[in-house]
Amino acid sequence: MMRLEDIRRQLAEITIDDAAYEDMQQKAAEAATLSETINYHYAMLSEGRPIRPRLGNEMQILYMRDRQVYSFLLFPELLDIEYQVAKVIGAHYVAPYLSGDTLPEIVQGNVVMCDEHKYAFQEIVEVDETHAVYRNHECADCFGLPDIGMKLCVYEAGTAAGGIEERLGRAVKVTETKCCAHGDPYCEFHVEVL
Ligand SMILES: [Zn+2]
Repeated sequence: MMRLEDIRRQLAEITIDDAAYEDMQQKAAEAATLSETINYHYAMLSEGRPIRPRLGNEMQILYMRDRQVYSFLLFPELLDIEYQVAKVIGAHYVAPYLSGDTLPEIVQGNVVMCDEHKYAFQEIVEVDETHAVYRNHECADCFGLPDIGMKLCVYEAGTAAGGIEERLGRAVKVTETKCCAHGDPYCEFHVEVL
């Protein structure tokens, strides 16, 4: 395991600070054709049109789930990097689907999107202007997994953070505090306005 540990040590040295995150946003903005295409795909999804002509937009969740689980099982150091990547995605593609101006309104909008896209069904536990706690039941990323001691739904946390942040116009942090891959019956997320 020496070689793997060596690689993990190198990954652990990567930190994404505010300046790096701004660079990531800039890089994503430069990929204009990609973002136009993905926006077009979201429009197709809203209109009930298939992106793939023969197979449509639905697929078996195991395919995406297991590539994520093994990426994080083998390299847990990627969790924070992927949280930041997901934030960029959330700012681009989740924010336009959220409504409202206050944190309670925006968090409520996220429940609707979650429900429509079937990545979980969401329950808001508490929310005010400065923080929120919500749960994802039957999460596509981790429901049914054994306790592997990991809270691995960073894509969910990150896309929510990016979407809420963009909509609210203030920095937010979303942390997963419970996860099915950590022995919990559902995932729980804490949203904090910074
Ligand atoms: Zn989870």
